[in-house]
Amino acid sequence: MHEKGLLIVLSGPSGVGKGTVRKEIFSQPNTAFQYSISMTTRAPREGEVDGIDYFFRKREEFEEMIEQGKLLEYAEFVGNYYGTPVDYVKETLERGKDVFLEIEVQGARQVREKFPDGLFIFLMPPSLTELKNRIVTRGTETDDVIQNRLQAAKEEIEMMNLYDYVVENDQVERACEKINAIVIAEHCRRERVESRYKKMLEVE
Ligand code: 5GP
Repeated sequence: MHEKGLLIVLSGPSGVGKGTVRKEIFSQPNTAFQYSISMTTRAPREGEVDGIDYFFRKREEFEEMIEQGKLLEYAEFVGNYYGTPVDYVKETLERGKDVFLEIEVQGARQVREKFPDGLFIFLMPPSLTELKNRIVTRGTETDDVIQNRLQAAKEEIEMMNLYDYVVENDQVERACEKINAIVIAEHCRRERVESRYKKMLEVE
């Protein structure tokens, strides 16, 4: 019997660089996490590929997934739906693999209710000015969307208290190192491992 995997949730305000940090983590050849590809109703940005970056779906298809209970969580964010297909997450955890979600904060709150022993990491911008710069320089959004995203970000930062760890994204590599270290430490947490060692004592 292998242990179940760990559900790792990386969240934080819009524009903090969750996507960049996640891509950096998954570009590392030795990463042991399985990425859960989200479903969204937003249009693909240039270079984004269906089934790799997201499952891009029509609104009706997304709402059907909601009705059928096939999403672990979902949220409407700046006019589009985003959600996590539940089957992949459950099956992968059962196989003993760690699953990595990169989602916004409303979704993270739903996951916390369903998986209270998941590992919740909040990615924090070094400052609000920095956050605004990042949203603006991404250059893919209109002024209205930028304003909406900044407002959403301020509200999102207030939800930090739902998380186990806070990692400042001052430098992508450093943020990734911290996340990897947190996951390693979490796997050694006494509550997670003690039953295994108690069984060992029973045998010897
Ligand atoms: P973007 O449109 O920039 O790719 O993503 C917008 C926001 O949606 C980001 O904060 C991203 O982390 C979040 N997001 C991506 N996938 C999911 C998901 O499956 N569920 C939720 N709740 N948020 C998601």
